[in-house]
Amino acid sequence: MQKLMGTTVYGGIGRGVIKYFHRDEIAISKARVVDTMRELRKFAYARNEVEEELKKLYEQSVPVVGEDEAQIFLIHQMILDDSQYVDSMESLILNEHCNAEYAVVRTVKMFSKMMEETSSESEYISERIADIRDVSARLLRHIQNRDEKDFKLDEMSIVCADDFLPSETIRLDKSKVAAICTSYGSANSHTAILARTRGIPCIIGMGGELKESLENKYCVVDSYSGIMYIEPDNETSKLLDHKEAVEGRKRELLTRLRGRKNVTRDGREIEVLANICDLTDIENAKRNDCGGIGLLRSEYLYTGKNDFPDEEMQFYNYRRVLTEMQGKPVTIRTMDIGADAGLDYFGLDQEKNPALGFRSIRVCLSRPQIFKTQLRALYRASIYGDLRILFPMIVQPGEIIRIKEIIDEVKAELIQEDKPFKDDISLGALIETPAAVMLSDLLAEQVDFFSIGTNDLEQFSNAIYRHNPHFEDIVPDDHICVLRMIKTVCDNGHAHGLKVYICGEFGADTSYTEVFLDLHIDGLSVTPTNILPVRKTIRSLNLSDRRQVRQNIQKYLKC
Ligand code: PEP
Ligand code: MG
Repeated sequence: MQKLMGTTVYGGIGRGVIKYFHRDEIAISKARVVDTMRELRKFAYARNEVEEELKKLYEQSVPVVGEDEAQIFLIHQMILDDSQYVDSMESLILNEHCNAEYAVVRTVKMFSKMMEETSSESEYISERIADIRDVSARLLRHIQNRDEKDFKLDEMSIVCADDFLPSETIRLDKSKVAAICTSYGSANSHTAILARTRGIPCIIGMGGELKESLENKYCVVDSYSGIMYIEPDNETSKLLDHKEAVEGRKRELLTRLRGRKNVTRDGREIEVLANICDLTDIENAKRNDCGGIGLLRSEYLYTGKNDFPDEEMQFYNYRRVLTEMQGKPVTIRTMDIGADAGLDYFGLDQEKNPALGFRSIRVCLSRPQIFKTQLRALYRASIYGDLRILFPMIVQPGEIIRIKEIIDEVKAELIQEDKPFKDDISLGALIETPAAVMLSDLLAEQVDFFSIGTNDLEQFSNAIYRHNPHFEDIVPDDHICVLRMIKTVCDNGHAHGLKVYICGEFGADTSYTEVFLDLHIDGLSVTPTNILPVRKTIRSLNLSDRRQVRQNIQKYLKC
């Protein structure tokens, strides 16, 4: 038996035969050509073929995986049309008299290097590089007149690869995929997102030990623990069977909580909402019986594009989430984008510390046109449900005052254009900076609710970048600082009659649910799969013992 370990993306037990996905990468070397026109024609032919192929793939994918996932093929068409990308290949052929294949390979290298050097957001960049490689692999195939390799699965399989290109995961026959394991990849890669959305056990970052020579070996993946057992012995198989039964039972028991209230034994009810990143997460949020959407990170509308999303596109997206939620609250956060997103069309200067830089509401307020487009789409969509708008990275009340002036302008425009909207949308401040905590009494005079973004609040208050590998070592285990801040925000918010939510990951930590309730948090917004575990904890609590509450506060807040 061999054991390989990696990082869990979605927990489960998967059994099957290892199928190693390897694309036919052919070594390409530079050749000097005399007839450059012939190479240009080969390149033009390949581009045409790829364009047709991508169009077909998009049309075929929409009914199977839905419009959002199929969009990857539209993004690939944009890459194919990108003038810099095309110019690079054409000028290499003309200026260096090289073969078309080499021009493609060189361009991929140059683009990858350039992107890696100009951005510190490594996960985002590696996804974009994967897209460029994907399109380029198609070009190469057509330049060399090769057929597309099919990755057919005949039996339940553990699908392995160094990493998957976006269009490869989409083409996998999911009914035969017992688990996905990759050597590299990131938690936000297309592979990871797909696995989470579909509930496929998945482990990433298994390193070089995961290799082709394992092909066809039987294997059991325990992605609860991030372990892959290759040819497990009897004892391990039995233990894993047992674990599967226990975890399965736990999940099944949790599903019984669907339709139940988030209410403590002594009758305190609290909202439990879902954090979602795009429209594909709605289904999962509903399946887990969310009380509404507590945070829709609207950045997905901007990333992976080469221009700002227009008002109609945004309106369509906001309307869709509101109608899907059928009257339940939907909190949409306005875009939180900075130089680290690597979006050229924003025209943001590179900066050393984009997390602390010109981002988010700062961009919106200094370039109101971008902000107004989003607000117009939000206000127009507001008539389709219970919309709340949340503003990120707030540090002072003046920002909210300015936001409200811009909203007044938007409303006046919509009235003039005879476009209906709700006048009284709840406006909230995302409390994710220490400044916002300290000024929460003043901010409370300006907004209708608070939502505490503990992810950023932990990083800014403990002065440690949230993606720093030492983050866990620096942030104290008892979270005393952020808990005290939550108390301040709750006290100030409640003094002004505001509801206070937590939407950072900390809100899903069930070992703190009791403390959050002791502090009178009104709602928790968590990833969809955490909704039922949080509900279970809430239902097990009894807060009627005041002495216990005081002891909890003393223990956790040390005051
Ligand atoms: C937060 O900072 O806690 C938050 C909810 O926002 P994000 O994780 O998107 O920064
Ligand atoms: Mg944040």
